[in-house]
Amino acid sequence: MDIRSETTELLGRLGVRADRLAGGDLVVRSPVTGEQIAALKTISAGDAAAMIEEADAAFRAWRNVPAPKRGELVRLLGEELRAAKADLGRLVSIEVGKIPSEGLGEVQEMIDICDFAVGLSRQLYGLTIATERPGHRMMETWHPLGVVGVISAFNFPVAVWSWNAALALVCGNSVVWKPSEKTPLTALACQAIFARAAERAADVPNGLVQVLIGDGAIGEVLVDHPKVPLVSATGSTRMGRAVGPRLAKRFARAILELGGNNAGIVCPSADLDMAVRAIAFGAMGTAGQRCTTLRRLFVHDSVYDTLVPRLRKAYQSVSVGSPLETSALVGPLIDRVAFEGMQKALDAAKAEGGTVTGGERVDTGGAEAYYVRPALVEMPKQTGPVLEETFAPILYVMKYSELDQAIAEHNAVGAGLSSSIFTRDLMESERFLSAEGSDCGIANVNIGTSGAEIGGAFGGEKETGGGRESGSDAWRAYMRRATNTVNYSKALPLAQGVSFDI
Ligand code: NAD
Repeated sequence: MDIRSETTELLGRLGVRADRLAGGDLVVRSPVTGEQIAALKTISAGDAAAMIEEADAAFRAWRNVPAPKRGELVRLLGEELRAAKADLGRLVSIEVGKIPSEGLGEVQEMIDICDFAVGLSRQLYGLTIATERPGHRMMETWHPLGVVGVISAFNFPVAVWSWNAALALVCGNSVVWKPSEKTPLTALACQAIFARAAERAADVPNGLVQVLIGDGAIGEVLVDHPKVPLVSATGSTRMGRAVGPRLAKRFARAILELGGNNAGIVCPSADLDMAVRAIAFGAMGTAGQRCTTLRRLFVHDSVYDTLVPRLRKAYQSVSVGSPLETSALVGPLIDRVAFEGMQKALDAAKAEGGTVTGGERVDTGGAEAYYVRPALVEMPKQTGPVLEETFAPILYVMKYSELDQAIAEHNAVGAGLSSSIFTRDLMESERFLSAEGSDCGIANVNIGTSGAEIGGAFGGEKETGGGRESGSDAWRAYMRRATNTVNYSKALPLAQGVSFDI
């Protein structure tokens, strides 16, 4: 079966009618073959605003549904996702080019966050706080916030929505999602899956979860709308620079999950077998198109000549090819622009004295399919393209001699998402995790930079935007906090000993 027919069939099984997939202005291509697989209708700014109003009305009803009952909807969403896992995972592979285990892994992440959110729906705790006034009680209450806007990137087309939606829904909010214009099909599939869960649950108002099909201009409608108190935006730092100030201008909240330029440090005592595997997966997995992809590696000069030839071998032998028809570990880049960006970065690295292994296009037959051999670039120092995120499989390798110098270089870039150190020396690992160590939102020891679990809070510092999503106490960003003081005495003592007797 050709890829377009398979896409239509998969979407049909997932609940999206074939007539939605043709006749529109948004051409969707699969990076696997470069072929067109759909042409969707985009919405107008006016339609987007109307959908946001509808989501606001839904929020006003949903906020009164008890949180554990809201959790029941998310439990059903998890069930529907379990039933749809094989089809949705395959659709992710078709639309983004992820290898099967990563396509399915992304759906598993959705299921995991649903489980997490169901438990959370009974744990939206506030504090009771000691008060200085007799006969008083002081406490914090967490209330639903409103319409939560979600803007997502192409590379995690479904998981990022679910991280936000599962939490937002149990917190009593409605959700309006603007998916990447490169991956609208998986978004339509999620909407259909959600609709099935909503049909089975009680008290779900119409319009609780909406999808806006369109480009950045439609995203701007969400960003500027006064009835959207929080926008969670995932994408490039360039997008964050546009979105952040607009939200700040109207005092809306932002969860910004932006670009990464993640690094690892390999110390003299590192287990090199483990390090090679972790580096290979972190740098080449998902064809280098994860926000947490390993992009820079600092290797101690005592192990450099042992480690780097092993890495070079791994780069030369890793299988590159269609994620649908082969068991390749590296699939395609998303499009031609990504390929050109990679070539430009490699040229710039060479101009700065870098030695490049790999990086060339691998012929797979499709003129518009861009497969590349991942590139390993030995750099004399951290300059030029090494300082920026290029969203492609390029790993820059540099030598170091002192850990303090490696940590300083590690931190000397704009982004601050993920980091790791490979060492068996307790002092080195603790130093890396300390206040003087990695400045990233994620800092790991003896595992790579990518592949986070949903139980921890996910996000990064500096130009990565500072947002946190997913586990731990990230739910608080989706609620508003009220401090309540209750006087159950017959007096009116004022705080700080102030007296005001009239
Ligand atoms: P992108 O910035 O091109 O697009 C992301 C989303 O933002 C899309 O939905 C796009 O339509 C929208 N958008 C663009 N301009 C906008 C504007 N002015 N107003 C509102 N919306 C706008 O990113 P991409 O190429 O899809 O994804 C790759 C980037 O995303 C990389 O930089 C990667 O590191 C980053 N990313 C970060 C995380 C994270 O959690 N930190 C996760 C995934 C991807």
